[in-house]
Amino acid sequence: MTVNILFSARPALWPVYEPLLTKYLTDAGLEFQLGTDVDPDQVDYIIYAPNGGLLDFSPYTRLKAVLSLWAGVEKIAGNETLTVPLARMVDHGLTQGMTEWVVGHVLRYHLGMDRHITVQDGVWTPEIPPLATGRKVCILGLGALGEAAARTLAALNFDVMGWSRSVKDIPGVTCMHGADGLRAALSQAEIVVLLLPGTPATENTLNAETLALMPKGARIINPGRGPLVDDDALLAALNSGQIGHATLDVFRIEPLPEDHPYWTHPNVTVTPHIASETRPETAAQVICENIRRGEEGEPFLHLVDRNLGY
Ligand code: NDP
Repeated sequence: MTVNILFSARPALWPVYEPLLTKYLTDAGLEFQLGTDVDPDQVDYIIYAPNGGLLDFSPYTRLKAVLSLWAGVEKIAGNETLTVPLARMVDHGLTQGMTEWVVGHVLRYHLGMDRHITVQDGVWTPEIPPLATGRKVCILGLGALGEAAARTLAALNFDVMGWSRSVKDIPGVTCMHGADGLRAALSQAEIVVLLLPGTPATENTLNAETLALMPKGARIINPGRGPLVDDDALLAALNSGQIGHATLDVFRIEPLPEDHPYWTHPNVTVTPHIASETRPETAAQVICENIRRGEEGEPFLHLVDRNLGY
């Protein structure tokens, strides 16, 4: 039987994904119809990103699953018109990109790179940074992205702590969980990386109280989601010197409004949500594998728990 698949994402992605999806669906031995305009009552699967504009899933009466191209699903997890399984994106290209971005920004702080990159004033002030062994880095969120970043930082000999909702055992990483675990991790961390999903439970994980726990001058790197941080509390902590610097890739409103104080704060680096992206070549394989599983009655990979929101 023909499997009907709707591609609902940014239109510019269609010419990129169409040949890849065609290849991997054919390799899987499936008979399929794939398009950006499929009769709703014929659609079996929706390949989805929020920028495709689809909000109401109720016309899709025979839908079997929605397969997200994004890792973060906060824009769809609570959609009440969606009553079928939702799978999120776990793509090793996306994971590798995030690991590279996180390691780069951790090394920037660890080595004090800005001192010599932005100031060339003829003053010879040698300050040798400690080895990574002496640098405590904490990753909040030990999922697909956080665990990969934590493992790589541990392989570089950083003193890595991690925090997640459930108990974890990751070689080279001191894993913590629960409210006490968060306090213990933050109170030691010189560099904190946020790789939590955006959910009601994670909103304002960094707030006035938790920022105050951190060692004075600690640095923050947020490639997770904007609402993980209470912006007013972070600005206050930056102004008081409690937080030494923040590198922020994600924001409550994107693009970050031109007049937002982050743009001009001397101790903030803004990057425009570029930490990592789904890579079509590898992501198309993940999507097609899930469609194959759906058709062969096997469990879907990377299912979202709609109650938890991730
Ligand atoms: P996962 O779902 O694999 O991992 C999420 C992690 O957060 C898990 O370890 C989970 O714990 C933990 N977590 C969730 N809720 C809580 C909580 N209430 N308290 C403590 N820990 C919690 O997600 P990914 O690693 O794939 O992605 C993480 C986020 O990164 C995405 O949701 C997205 O927002 C962001 N992202 C940003 C990109 C960018 O370019 N800036 C690109 C891609 C993703 P547990 O393991 O116990 O479930």
